[in-house]
Amino acid sequence: MPNVTKPRIGISACLMGAEVRYNGGHKESRLCTHSLAEHFDFVPVCPEVAIGMGIPRQPIRLVGDAQHPQALGTVDASVNVTAPLAAYGEQMAAELDDLCGYIFMHKSPSCGLERVKVYRDNGAPQHEGGRGIYAEAFCAAHPDLPVEEDGRLCDAVLRENFMVRVYAYADWQALLREGLSRRGLMQFHSRYKYQLMANNPLQYKVLGKLLGTMGRSDAAEIGPRYFSELMAALKRCATRGTHSNVLQHLSGYFKRSLDDADRQEMQHLIEQYRLGIVPLVVPLTLLKHHLRLHPDPYVSQQVYLQPHPENLSLRNAI
Ligand code: SF4
Repeated sequence: MPNVTKPRIGISACLMGAEVRYNGGHKESRLCTHSLAEHFDFVPVCPEVAIGMGIPRQPIRLVGDAQHPQALGTVDASVNVTAPLAAYGEQMAAELDDLCGYIFMHKSPSCGLERVKVYRDNGAPQHEGGRGIYAEAFCAAHPDLPVEEDGRLCDAVLRENFMVRVYAYADWQALLREGLSRRGLMQFHSRYKYQLMANNPLQYKVLGKLLGTMGRSDAAEIGPRYFSELMAALKRCATRGTHSNVLQHLSGYFKRSLDDADRQEMQHLIEQYRLGIVPLVVPLTLLKHHLRLHPDPYVSQQVYLQPHPENLSLRNAI
């Protein structure tokens, strides 16, 4: 488990149960208010209220070019809040520079991340969706920040992937506070070896080569590039196939310490996981049991073994 304190996470305020929607309602996500609240320091933000639109208010929608839409009133289309929403996104991106992730409300013309409905000037919906104005401005200022929509977090694989990225981001912030050094970067990369192999095996090698070109004084220059590429690589979800491959590699460290029966049991559980019969936590628990009995400093330091708090139980569901 990376050595990080409770990560601060931005979140659309209505997801936390705040009655800030256009109709005075909320969209509480019980996943966020119950399961995740214990682990994260949530920072709720409602951009529409913040720019003075009030509660209740006329709803807005995206209109025009899907790549650069305008946020207009649905009742009075002369109300255009595009500029204030974008400015508020930039302002919050500057103020909230210690976040490790952001959970946005889906479909919102302000907060939605993907496929938000965009209308033509004549009112007909377009095929191509857009991104909410506030979310677009915020994300443009923090391109490496892990972001996700509430709905997608209901998917166990996407949820686990988001949490891996949030804790990796927090881990990196902790490294920056210590000061970037060549040694620190190499150690960081070494700890992420198997996590990267699970998410994106090719990028593990690419990033290793990038660090291989680093001279003694290059850490400050290469570090940010390395981190951007790491976050992009972790965005790809690990599969049962790539997890199984990592489990095989890790179990290889104990090959000589285990007897035939133990080795067979390990192989059997990895295969059962690969076939979808048991969740990832099953072979991992056995692997950690052998690691306790046969300590190995290189394996122990691997983020892959526990990239997020154990009691989030994320690997029971994948
Ligand atoms: S989606 Fe965003 S703008 Fe809309 S109510 Fe929720 S926090 Fe406010």
